[in-house]
Amino acid sequence: MFTQPPMLWYNQKKFELFIPKSQINLIVEELACRINKDYQGKKPVFLLVLKGSIFFASDLLRKVSLDCVVETVSANSYGAYMKSSGEVNLILTKLDITGKEVIIVEDIIDTGLTISKLIENLKLFNPESVEVVALLSKPGMRKVKVNVKYIGKEIPSRFVIGYGLDYSEHGRNLPSIYALSE
Ligand code: 5GP
Repeated sequence: MFTQPPMLWYNQKKFELFIPKSQINLIVEELACRINKDYQGKKPVFLLVLKGSIFFASDLLRKVSLDCVVETVSANSYGAYMKSSGEVNLILTKLDITGKEVIIVEDIIDTGLTISKLIENLKLFNPESVEVVALLSKPGMRKVKVNVKYIGKEIPSRFVIGYGLDYSEHGRNLPSIYALSE
């Protein structure tokens, strides 16, 4: 049985329960259903954006009933802070996505800079298509327009942790999502 305290502290910052695990499960289930339907008969490549998407991706992909391939990419724009630095570092390994249908798996879309830079780079490999599935989106924070086909939940412009999302590498393993108290 996992514990789900209503609030917790990291580095003297207070975080409050924001999206309980039970709600995350429903969101992930619905996203998987939509992907299974839209990609029926296709063999997509799921590209996981590390590290934040690992918990989401592991739950999502176990609900995906398609014959698919899993690849990873490292991206970093937050570093140890609670705000996007505006600079995106991408580590792309050799990817076999030419002519393939790619679905990028992201934890959260904030300014949109990471995902737009990633999509721009992926297009150099000439994939058949590129779509994005993101657990969360903060539309109020966008700096660039991005087309995210599958969004689990839109949230206000608050800093969140848990379920893969970290605060200076802490909090990733929380089963629920917590928001920094205002
Ligand atoms: P963007 O490039 O869209 O501004 O940011 C994308 C990345 O920033 C996400 O993949 C995530 O790693 C990080 N990020 C954005 N918002 C949050 C947040 O509220 N909490 C945490 N922990 N990371 C965030």
